[in-house]
Amino acid sequence: MYELNEKVRSLTPYEPISGKYPVRLDANESFLSLPEELREEIGRAVSRAAFQRYPDPLAGKVTEAFADFYGISPSLVTVGNGSDELLYLLTSTMLMRGESMLVLEPDFSMYRFYGSLSEVEVVSCPKREDLTIDVDEVIRRAKEANARLILFSNPCNPTSLGLPRQEVRRLVRSVEALVVLDEAYMDFWDQSLLPQVEEYENLVILRTCSKALGLASLRLGFAVANRRLTAALRAVKSPYNVNSLSQTVGALVLREKEWASYALGQILASRDELQAALDSLAAEFPGQLQVYRSCTNFIFLKPAGAAGLFEGLLEAGVAVRRMGEFLRVTAGSQEENRRFLEAFRSLFREGRAAE
Ligand SMILES: *Cc1c(COP(=O)(O)O)cnc(C)c1O
Repeated sequence: MYELNEKVRSLTPYEPISGKYPVRLDANESFLSLPEELREEIGRAVSRAAFQRYPDPLAGKVTEAFADFYGISPSLVTVGNGSDELLYLLTSTMLMRGESMLVLEPDFSMYRFYGSLSEVEVVSCPKREDLTIDVDEVIRRAKEANARLILFSNPCNPTSLGLPRQEVRRLVRSVEALVVLDEAYMDFWDQSLLPQVEEYENLVILRTCSKALGLASLRLGFAVANRRLTAALRAVKSPYNVNSLSQTVGALVLREKEWASYALGQILASRDELQAALDSLAAEFPGQLQVYRSCTNFIFLKPAGAAGLFEGLLEAGVAVRRMGEFLRVTAGSQEENRRFLEAFRSLFREGRAAE
């Protein structure tokens, strides 16, 4: 009888919320779809694609469009099949089996998953009670564990909080480990280290097209690092990791800077509106709802009775993400926000929060 090995045996496939919910605010996606004109241009470009050929291994066009969009050099960029692929690549290649990698708690749960698949020791450093990052503690733990890699998101998914650039800089400078800084949500904040990435010999920054750019379906992520690290990343990635269609569409959308800045403005406005409405609800129900100040496109909440509220929202057709005693709500369209808020308020007024 064939036995699965131990590291695989206990795993179960990732299952997003199943079932039909008219309002989906559970995956931090953009609520905007691409404008009609751009869709037509994409249609024409796709119809001309060389389907019989392997894709460009270095994804030249989309790399250039990405680099131009963020004002950096294309020679510092490695493209991945979503930043997820790059996360897996980094944990499986930048560490030898059994070496230590440091993650923060709470943070993006995939870090731990990829670490354990890569058979590395995943050491965790708790955040403060208020969910902010204590950089001195991170440095201390990294040294204590002899960590070879430190991986965290900034701004953070799920907490929505940001660590100021100064503090990130201090962390990168104080450790010998490779720091992988996941800036998936940095389009929504202004503390990126992207412009200075070359000043560090031990920093890899991850960005994605899945959030602010609204291209989650394409699976396009980017690692940005100095030339030496970039050469290593390009050497370890599988050659045809990003398909031609994603490369083509990604390049077209990244060149539409006006569209991108319009979309970002819409998402930020939605986020601010949601934040303000939840602040009022928190004021109406003192002690029953904590609302974190968001630097992202979602709001992180600590309500009394998260489980009951989560179920109540599903019954009302609204899917959000529940993480233990917390809820995470993506900023949606005005209509989606309205439906969420209406259902959420009703649950509070019916006393479901206190359960
Ligand atoms: C959404 C998200 C990503 C992006 O993943 P892709 O694979 O590029 O879609 C990466 N990191 C964090 C923390 C995220 O929330």
